[in-house]
Amino acid sequence: MALRKLGVLGWPVDHSRSPAMQSAALAAAGLDVEYAYERVAVPPGELAGTLHRLAGAGFHGVNVTIPYKEEALALATEASPVARAIGAANTLTFGPAGAIRADNTDAPGLLDALGDPPPRTALVLGAGGSARAAAYALRQAGAAVAVWNRSPERARRLAAELGVAAVERPARAEVLVNCTSVGLQDPDTTFKELPLTSDELGQYACVVDLVYRSGGTELLHQAERRGCRCVDGLEILVRQGARSFEIWTGRSAPLDVMRQAARSEHSHSQLPLSPPGRGVGPADA
Ligand code: NDP
Repeated sequence: MALRKLGVLGWPVDHSRSPAMQSAALAAAGLDVEYAYERVAVPPGELAGTLHRLAGAGFHGVNVTIPYKEEALALATEASPVARAIGAANTLTFGPAGAIRADNTDAPGLLDALGDPPPRTALVLGAGGSARAAAYALRQAGAAVAVWNRSPERARRLAAELGVAAVERPARAEVLVNCTSVGLQDPDTTFKELPLTSDELGQYACVVDLVYRSGGTELLHQAERRGCRCVDGLEILVRQGARSFEIWTGRSAPLDVMRQAARSEHSHSQLPLSPPGRGVGPADA
């Protein structure tokens, strides 16, 4: 039987951990005889042509990453309500006769990482693509969501579209979710660029940082010191990837295998694994 191909599309995509993580998951599920997952670099302006080519080249589905999540949704022939509401797709599945189904697993992946019960209040930092997914997910889970962004008009637009509140100063909440790229390049700028001090982190029971980097992020190091439950960007990556795996294969994703694979390329990380599905609460609860 010909291998059904899966992959991750982006530009750049060299540093994506999805190939290692998804390949390990396929092997653990005994599906590596049926599927193979690869990296597909898509230069600017070539997404539509690439999707057409992949559909004809035995691809079953792809993850989509920066900068193509919005365009991927626009090119799909059908979309889940979640992808449509967020305005972005990170998972595409190819069907017969050129059909492309768009899903967004970033939103449910965040809720999976937070576990039950979902938070009642949340502060989202950022107003880009990942902030839209986080705000939508948390709102759908019943949380009162506040959004802060460096460019306030963008936060206001997001808030109006998704039925959440835009704030000019960080509000108290059970969960803080960093969806900005602050801390990715230079950890020393974290508390200069975010609108709160490290001491103020103590008012959040749980801090989620979508950013991940070797050695962990300064935001989570400081949150951990203040006793917050911490969820790092690799756990978020694993949870969205697990949902994509389940969409494509119809099988439960082997979460621990995926975590290990995502983190093994990240061997300098000092952060402990966040306990799966623990719900929101202080680290020592
Ligand atoms: P976008 O480019 O869509 O949005 C970037 C956001 O960061 C904007 O809100 C922008 O604010 C803000 N920002 C950028 N620089 C600064 C700064 N110096 N100070 C304050 N705010 C700043 O990116 P995404 O939403 O797609 O991704 C955001 C981050 O999350 C990235 O680092 C990405 O790697 C990470 N990510 C991780 C995932 C995971 O699986 N762990 C999944 C998706 C993303 P403004 O509007 O003012 O420009």
